[in-house]
Order: sequence, then C-alpha cells, then structure tokens
Amino acid sequence: MGVASAGDPLFPELKRVASPSHLLPDDLLAGAGAVVTFFLPFERSVGLSNISGDMASAEWATAYIETNELIRAVCAYMKGWLEAAGYRAAVTPPTHDFDDGALMSAWSHRHVAFVAGLGRFGLNNMLITEAGCCGRLGSFVTSLELEPDIRATAEACLYRHDGSCHRCVTRCVGDALFTDRFDRRACYDVCLRNERLHASLGAADVCGKCLVAVPCAFVDPVARRIAKNEPSRA
Ligand code: SF4
Ligand code: SF4
Repeated sequence: MGVASAGDPLFPELKRVASPSHLLPDDLLAGAGAVVTFFLPFERSVGLSNISGDMASAEWATAYIETNELIRAVCAYMKGWLEAAGYRAAVTPPTHDFDDGALMSAWSHRHVAFVAGLGRFGLNNMLITEAGCCGRLGSFVTSLELEPDIRATAEACLYRHDGSCHRCVTRCVGDALFTDRFDRRACYDVCLRNERLHASLGAADVCGKCLVAVPCAFVDPVARRIAKNEPSRA
C-alpha cells in the first residue's frame, strides 16, 4: 500500500507527464486529504501461463477481470468503512475509464501509485513494486488526512538502473515497445485482439507479454540485486 497527501505537488505534474486531462485528488473529492493506492499481485502461475505465444492466456485474461472486480470490492468496502468513521471517500474504476482517442486515463492508477511511493516505472511502462509488476493497481481518495509514504529515489528497473536489461522490449509482440518510445495505439490494437479472443470471459483488453518472463515480473530486481550484493552491470 502507498499513501500520498492530496496536496502533493506531483499531482498537478500528472497533467504534464500522464495526460492534460488528468484529474487532481480534489477533482474526485472536494477537500481531499489523502490518496491511498494498493497493488494486488497475480499468482505466479498466472504470469507463467502468459509467457508462451503471441496471445494472452485465458488465465491472464481471467485474472485481469477478476482482479478488477476485487479492486472494486476493496474500494467499495473502504469507502463504506471511512464513511462509517465520519470521513468521505471517492473511488475510481480500476480500468476502462480512458479516452478512446488519446488512450489516456483521467486517473492513472500507475502514476498515482508512483506519487504514493508504491514503486518506480519500468521501461515496460508498468509500475515495478516490491512485488514486481504482474498484477493490478487500485486507488481511492479520502478526506482523512494520512501520513504520506516516502517515495524511493532508487530505480526499480534494471534498464533505468544500469542499462543491463531491455527484456520487455524484446518480448513485445506488437512492435509497440522500444527503448526510446512507446506506440500506445499499436499496443492497444494487440489488447483489442486479445479482448476478441477472450470475449466469452468478459472485457479483457490485455496483453502483458512484456510483464512476464522478465526480471521485474514478481520482484523489484534492482532491490534484489542490491540485497544480494551483486555488482551493477553498467
Ligand atoms: S524487463 Fe528489464 S528493462 Fe523491462 S521493465 Fe523489467 S527490469 Fe526494466
Ligand atoms: S502489452 Fe503487449 S503489445 Fe503492449 S507493449 Fe507489452 S508486449 Fe507490447
């Protein structure tokens, strides 16, 4: 879990780095005090199921759908709990709240979780938490003022740490991810193909091939390397 003060100066910056229409905590809840973010990692078997082939596995698509439901339930529970305690809260959907043209969310859980110190961005555009990046992020805003978490300054991505990895780029199945750019539309086209493939399961516009069989799938690989006293590969 990561907590940010609603007044954190990085929130206005999200209009520049994430999307010009990105919301501020106060836009979701007037008088916001804190933003709470959390990461629900997938079972390792789910990640392993998605390694082979160009299309997302049924297990991956199912985990995406079911985890989104779990995030909704967690947020609804916390909203009720906070309101019963005399505070207010606002929740946002875990996904599918983006602009179809710009493919940008009005509330990016990844960027908000970064502000709240939950992890650091990887070359694969995912947030690498201490439990890796295979999973889903959720967040809610509350009027309750909470002590914010401290953002780590150390990178969690090996490419950003010492340039020793770009495995996510080589795993990309959609010609979307490169070391110097990301083709959002090409990535989304792959996700829509998977959604059609798994239509019987629900709305699963996913891919995730750049999140599996990579060093950051289930751990923060930089923190692990440092903990093991392994030298930097720079
Ligand atoms: S696969 Fe390697 S380069 Fe890509 S995000 Fe993970 S650690 Fe960074
Ligand atoms: S989600 Fe799929 S298409 Fe998009 S960058 Fe990752 S591997 Fe490439």
